[in-house]
This record gives sequence, C-alpha cells and structure tokens, in this order.
Amino acid sequence: AKERGKNSYHMFAPDLQQITSDKMFIQNELNRALALGELTLYYQPQVNASDGTIVGMEALIRWNHPERGLVSPDQFIAVAEETGLIVPIGAWVLQTACQQNKVWQDLGLPPIRVAVNLSARQFLKKDFTQMVADILEQTGLAPHFLELEITESTMIDVHRASNTLAELKQLGVYIAIDDFGTGYSSLSYLKEFPLNRLKIDRSFVRDMKKSASNRAIVSTIISMAHHLELKVIAEGVETNDELAFLQEHLCEEVQGYLFSKPLPLEEITSYMQEQTLK
Ligand code: C2E
Ligand code: CA
Ligand code: CA
Ligand code: CA
Repeated sequence: AKERGKNSYHMFAPDLQQITSDKMFIQNELNRALALGELTLYYQPQVNASDGTIVGMEALIRWNHPERGLVSPDQFIAVAEETGLIVPIGAWVLQTACQQNKVWQDLGLPPIRVAVNLSARQFLKKDFTQMVADILEQTGLAPHFLELEITESTMIDVHRASNTLAELKQLGVYIAIDDFGTGYSSLSYLKEFPLNRLKIDRSFVRDMKKSASNRAIVSTIISMAHHLELKVIAEGVETNDELAFLQEHLCEEVQGYLFSKPLPLEEITSYMQEQTLK
C-alpha cells in the first residue's frame, strides 16, 4: 500500500534552475510551516516479536500543508537538511515526541519508548546532548523511554559521533542504527560505539519470501547483532511469513503494516488503549 500523498505530485521540476528556486520555495514554506504549527507527528507501534505487546512508538513527521494536504517526509527532509532548517524542526520533533510519551504514561498506559529519527546535522551539533537533557528534564520523561534513531552516515564523522554517543549513553537514552545495512560505512563502529539496537531496513525485509539473499542478510544481521550484544528490530514487516522468519531467527522486535501503519495522535492513542485491554 502506498502512503497517502506520496507520488501524487512532484515538487521538483527537472531542470537545475527550477530545482534551486523550488528549494528556496520549500525553505520559505517550511519556515512558515514550523511557525504556524503545520508540522505534525504520526506514530507507528514497535512490537515485541514473541508476544505482540507494544514496546515503543516511532515518531514520523508529516507536513499538513494547507493546499497540498499531507506531505510525506521524503518530500521535505532533504531540503530541511540542506538549509539547516532540520535543526529547529528536529528540536520540535524531539520535544513533541517526549512530551507525548509522558502524556501517554500519565494517562496510565503501559510505559513504552518513543523512537525519534535524527539527521546527522542535528546529531552532530555541539549542544545536542544538552538539548536532549533539557527536553527530558522539562517534559519529565525518564531517559530510558527515549530512543534516538541515527543512520550509518551519521557515524562517518567518527570522532564527533563517538563523543556524542558517549554523552548520550551517560545520559541514559537508547541509540538505534536505522536503515542498517544500506549505508556505505564500515562495520568497525559497531564495536567501538555504545549502541543498543540495529534496525533492519525495510528493503531487506520486503522481498524475503522471494529472495534467498535477503533472508541471508536478515538472519546474518540478527546473528551478528546478538554476538555484539545488540538488540534487533525489523521494520516494514507486512506479512505473517515475514514475522515467522524473524521470530525463528530471534529478532526481538518488529514494526510494520502487519501491526499498524503510522497513525495520527488520536488514532494511535485509541489503538494503544485497545491493545492494553486485550
Ligand atoms: P525510516 O526512518 O526508515 O521510516 C520508515 C518508513 O517506512 C516510514 O516512512 C514508514 O511510514 C514506512 N513504513 C513503516 N512500516 C512500513 C511497512 O510495513 N510497509 C511500507 N511499505 N512502509 C512502511 P515515512 O513516514 O514516509 O518516513 C520516511 C523517512 O523520513 C523515514 O524513514 C525517516 O528517514 C525520515 N523521517 C521521518 N520523520 C523524521 C523526523 O522527524 N526527522 C528526520 N530527520 N527524519 C524523519
Ligand atoms: Ca526510522
Ligand atoms: Ca528504513
Ligand atoms: Ca531512514
């Protein structure tokens, strides 16, 4: 199933001049979006693979555009990164997700993690750890209920990444490597950095039924992670066959349309309440 809004229009025209002015256009629009509260978070459950209980929620940004409708992050995160707008947007995402997780806990729902996607540019800012600490303090969320998802490309600046990761570990938040296996980075960081989880990219999970090499990649990532004392979550799980394979290989957690699509706040809160009553 395709995301609503995705592929339904193209913001970028093909020629270079047009691309530059489109970028500036999107930048202006994004500035306005942030100020006017047009950005919103959807949440997708992360589920214990053996018993199906909800263990986390990944926050996924959407842009509720007055004319274009719901815009997916693929349409604006890259521009936000290039222009630096990802820094204030990312801070807003962190603040909103942490605050929301505290609200769920205060409603009496079983405590879970909230997972937040980070851009390299945001993660590598000097005051990043302090900002996370301030947000946790201000929202009253305990650090172990926050997981930060970073990609392999963030680790290319080894020195800065390892300093920040050490500070974050000290703070007590969890770190997951997102889109694991899709970046062109060496594996050496896995033994040097304090990480908690590898997140297997949807591209490996997707065609497992047809592709023996995808099955080999998935089972090898799980086995390697376990040898390194890391947990594993698989994203993009859509079928019971995929779930069965992941269970068989002792993947701890799963996420995907099989359980739920990312949902807006009210819907995900009802979903959590229903699951708790089961
Ligand atoms: P991601 O972190 O790899 O997120 C997974 C994407 O796969 C999400 O797309 C999610 O909606 C989609 N998905 C989840 N389960 C399934 C499934 O079973 N089948 C299929 N076909 N798709 C599934 P989404 O929400 O469009 O996000 C796209 C990307 O945008 C994310 O990829 C992430 O890299 C980025 N992103 C989202 N929110 C943020 C944010 O707050 N900050 C930053 N820096 N990036 C974000
Ligand atoms: Ca992610
Ligand atoms: Ca992914
Ligand atoms: Ca990603």
